[in-house]
Amino acid sequence: MADLILFWHRRDLRISDNLGLAAARERSPKVVGVFCLDPGILNGDDVAPARVVYMLGCLAQLQARYRSVGSELLILQGNPVQQIPRAASALRAVAVHWNRDVEPYSRQRDNAVAEALGEKGIEIRTKTWDQLLHAPGDVLTGAGKPYTVYGPFWRNWQKSPKLAPVETLHDAVGLSDAERDGVDAIPLPTAKDLGFVWQVPLPLEPGELAAQAQLASFGQQAMEAYDDQRNFPAVIGTSLLSAALKFGAVGIREVWQTATVAYEQCRSDEGRANVQTWMQELAWREFYQHVMYFFPELADGPYRAAWKDFPWDNSETLFEAWCAGRTGYPIVDAAMRQLNETGWMHNRCRMIVASFLTKDLIIDWRWGEKYFMQKLVDGDLSANNGGWQWSASSGMDPKPLRIFNPASQAKKFDADAEYIRQWLPEIRRVDTGALVSGKISPLDVEGTGYAAPVVDHKKQQALFKELYKQQKAKLQ
Ligand SMILES: Cc1cc2nc3c(=O)[nH]c(=O)nc-3n(C[C@H](O)[C@H](O)[C@H](O)COP(=O)(O)OP(=O)(O)OC[C@H]3O[C@@H](n4cnc5c(N)ncnc54)[C@H](O)[C@@H]3O)c2cc1C
Repeated sequence: MADLILFWHRRDLRISDNLGLAAARERSPKVVGVFCLDPGILNGDDVAPARVVYMLGCLAQLQARYRSVGSELLILQGNPVQQIPRAASALRAVAVHWNRDVEPYSRQRDNAVAEALGEKGIEIRTKTWDQLLHAPGDVLTGAGKPYTVYGPFWRNWQKSPKLAPVETLHDAVGLSDAERDGVDAIPLPTAKDLGFVWQVPLPLEPGELAAQAQLASFGQQAMEAYDDQRNFPAVIGTSLLSAALKFGAVGIREVWQTATVAYEQCRSDEGRANVQTWMQELAWREFYQHVMYFFPELADGPYRAAWKDFPWDNSETLFEAWCAGRTGYPIVDAAMRQLNETGWMHNRCRMIVASFLTKDLIIDWRWGEKYFMQKLVDGDLSANNGGWQWSASSGMDPKPLRIFNPASQAKKFDADAEYIRQWLPEIRRVDTGALVSGKISPLDVEGTGYAAPVVDHKKQQALFKELYKQQKAKLQ
């Protein structure tokens, strides 16, 4: 009888191009998948209902994918430190395999699971870095240190050879009825069963088939125009693959191969430059994961000393106005409504609202970081923390003070106020110039309930600069 290997899925919810799963199948035909619904994550106060719905959709498809190759995906519920060893023992698995992760919580959990399996004499194999093209430590500075600046990281990362997609799991031997009866597996719950409510369609259908289709269509049609389109929130000019990449519904090697093929097939230098910009975004994703791995303290606070005890104003009232999209700054409000209503926000707008929260409302970026995690379908510790620290200027970005002017941003990236009108229907009849500049006369919004500006951008900008100057002086 073939040895049974339990493959523990976490953020690799697919059977194609999965490094750890391919290695498990190479070792034995009897590979059974397992996923553990971990209350340590799901009961946290930073879980977005949209993200749970996306994850459950991926799991439903993963179960079907396993069945189609002759095996199955078991769903467990509870602390993985107990659940995984218990299931492995019950099934008499010779080994449990999983792909590694960068996040502090996952690393701690994985060590505890490894220890518990070790106590039961069950082997583990956890060397594969499936979610990244380059493992942390593969791309280092000349002095052998982790990079803390993106530019040189990108140059080195880009030229390092990358793996091709690995073979998809095509066949496997599943469990006997007796084996299955011995495990405490549960049917896949709904989001409602888990206490989450989400009723609108997600920005991208969950699961590996939808992700692959989206990647193929983006690679064929939009990647070549990416740099020209990606900054305009009214246009669908980006890949919409972030949730798929977060949960591993698509393999990163497949993603890279699609980008490489698109690059090679471009007929113009301009097209190639566009594809390269998209590749740079994938490198940002890896950069933030590498720094999270090497500097896990980033998860708890600012990287730069000047920000450690920054005198944030932290007004609850202003924070509530920001969350609800009621600041009186149309581009900010439109973006926050998009987030609240769809679970996704365009990247340009993420930068605008993050700058506004930190530099105009003078609110600690960690409040915004958490709110994003509570809403985003693609919420990911490394990318979100990286984006917030970049916007707050507290992170690894060498530029000390970056302040976005909401009106200039709207003028440049939503000149016809198309995006603003889409998300702020109550003021759609207001003149375009006023919507873009944010200078809306009280008469125009009378009866609409639309808020007057909660702060004055110019004044707040001056105040913020002054606070920053004083803070720096304190450190000298
Ligand atoms: C304040 C702030 C918070 C953010 N929070 C998240 C988050 O929680 N999860 C998340 O995936 N992205 C986050 N981003 C990055 C970016 O906004 C999203 O990845 C992007 O909007 C997703 O859309 P897309 O898939 O169409 O991206 P594309 O433009 O098509 O990019 C392709 C992929 O590259 C990666 N990527 C792109 N830009 C970045 C970036 N700046 N940093 C890291 N990875 C990137 C994503 O995986 C993305 O799917 C954040 C950015 C900011 C400024």
